[in-house]
Amino acid sequence: MMKSIHEPAREIPVAYDCDLCVIGGSCTGVFAAVRAARLGMSVALVESNILLGGMATAAQVNEWHSLYDATHQQQIIGGLTAEVLDRLRRKHALVDLMREERGPYALFNSAALALELDALVQEHESIRVFLKAACVGGIREGNALTAAILEDKSGRRAIRARMFVDASGDGDLLRRTGFAAWRNETLQPVSYQLLIAGLEQIEERTGKGIWSQIRHLSKDFDYPLENATPWINPSHVPADIRNVYGPRLNGVDASNADEVTAAILESRRCHRALLEMIKSRLGQEVAAVSLAHSLGVRETWHARCMHRLTASDLLDGISFSDRIGRGTYPVDIHSSQGTLLRYLNGKEKVLDRDGKVTWRRWREDMGSSPTSYEIPYRCLVPESAENLLVAGRLLDADREAYGGVRVMVNMNQTGEAAGVAAWWALKQGVTVTQVNPRELRRALADGGSLVP
Ligand SMILES: Cc1cc2nc3c(=O)[nH]c(=O)nc-3n(C[C@H](O)[C@H](O)[C@H](O)COP(=O)(O)OP(=O)(O)OC[C@H]3O[C@@H](n4cnc5c(N)ncnc54)[C@H](O)[C@@H]3O)c2cc1C
Repeated sequence: MMKSIHEPAREIPVAYDCDLCVIGGSCTGVFAAVRAARLGMSVALVESNILLGGMATAAQVNEWHSLYDATHQQQIIGGLTAEVLDRLRRKHALVDLMREERGPYALFNSAALALELDALVQEHESIRVFLKAACVGGIREGNALTAAILEDKSGRRAIRARMFVDASGDGDLLRRTGFAAWRNETLQPVSYQLLIAGLEQIEERTGKGIWSQIRHLSKDFDYPLENATPWINPSHVPADIRNVYGPRLNGVDASNADEVTAAILESRRCHRALLEMIKSRLGQEVAAVSLAHSLGVRETWHARCMHRLTASDLLDGISFSDRIGRGTYPVDIHSSQGTLLRYLNGKEKVLDRDGKVTWRRWREDMGSSPTSYEIPYRCLVPESAENLLVAGRLLDADREAYGGVRVMVNMNQTGEAAGVAAWWALKQGVTVTQVNPRELRRALADGGSLVP
C-alpha cells in the first residue's frame, strides 16, 4: 500500500504578478512568451531546467525539419522559427541540408540555440524568466486559474496571472489543477543523447561505419538491440562531433519520476557500454564530450481539448478555419517493432529494428495529394478552460496525428498561437474558447506567421 503524509496548507509569497504565465521554456514556451510580449503583455516564463529550449537544447535534439510544403517550393512556416533559424545562420551555428523525401532541414548547435533563446527573451523587458523553477500546481477558481505555484531555490512561490499557457509537455499545470488529460496506451519511446568525438578518425581509418563494426559485440556488452539500434548521427556543428541518440526505451512513462530516473540510468549504462564496445574493437581515441541535460521525451500526456486532431485530418490535408499552423512532417511512430513514417503523398517507409528499410503505399495513388496539413486552434483549448491554453506536446491529437505534428517546427507554431490567442482573449475580455479564429489568424500573420 502507498504510504502518505499530510502536508499542512501554508501562505506563500507572490513572486510576480503579470498578464501571462507560461509554464515550460522550450522553444514552444519561449515563442509563446515572445509573441505575447511583442503584443504588449507582461509575461512570466517558468522553466524547470537551467536552459531554455527544451528538447532542442537540453536533450540535444538538434534538427528542425522543413519549413516548406511537400513540393519543397512554397514556404509554409515562418514566424519565430524562421527568425531564430536566421539568427543561428548568421552566427554560423547551423547547416542547411536537404533530404529527397522530406526536403530542406537544418542541423544546429544546441548550445548556440540555448544562448540565442536567452538573447531573444532578454530583448523583451516585459518577460521575466524563472529558471530552475518547477511548476508544481496552481490555484483554480471554477474554470479559471488565478495563480501557478512554483518550487525553486527560494522555496514555494506563486505567480499570479490573468492568462496561462501550459507548455510543460507533461501538463504539470493542466493536470494538477484538475483539467482533463489522457494518454495513448502505447507511448512513443524515450531516448537519451550523448555527444562523442573521435569517430570521424576511426571511420576514415577503417573505411566503414561505426555501428556495422561493433554491432556483433552488443550481446557481450549487454547493449539492448531489442530497442532498436542507436542513431550515431553527425552533429555537423561542429563537424567532428557525433550525436548518439541512445537506444529507444519503450514502455517508459516520462511523467513518472521513478521511471524517468530508471530510464536515465539505463540509458547512461548503454552509453558506457557503447563507448567500451568502440574502444575495445576500434581504438581508444573516442571520447564522450557531453551528456544531455534532460531525458529525451517524445510523448506523455495530452490535454482533452475542443478538438482531437486525427490521422485523417492530417493526411487528408483537411482545412480548418481556425488553423494556427501548417506542416508536412510525416506521421512518425517509433515502437518496439521499429519506425513507421507515413507521408502525405500516400507512401510509407518502414524501418525494422535492424535498420532495414521497406517502402510501400499506405494509400492508392490518387493522382494528386495534399501538399501540407493544418493544425487547428481548437486542439490547444482544454475542455471547459477559461484562461488556460496548452501548446507543444500536450496538444490534443490521436496517436498517428501526434506522430506527425510532434516535431519542433510544428510545436513552435502552437506556442506562438497560444501566446497570441492569450493576448487576444485578454484584450477582448473573453475566454479562450471565444477567440475569433479569423482575428487570431490575422494577429498571427501580423507577427510573421504564415497562416493565410
Ligand atoms: C530523442 C528524440 C528525438 C527527436 N527528434 C526530433 C527531430 O529530429 N526533430 C524534431 O523537430 N523533433 C524531434 N523530436 C520531437 C521534439 O523534440 C519534441 O516533440 C518537441 O521538442 C516537443 O516540444 P515541447 O515544447 O512540447 O516539449 P519539450 O521540448 O519537452 O519542452 C518542455 C519544457 O518544459 C519544461 N518543463 C517540464 N515540466 C515543467 C514544470 N513542471 N515546470 C517548469 N518547466 C517544466 C521542460 O524542462 C522543457 O524545457 C525528438 C524527440 C526526442 C525525444
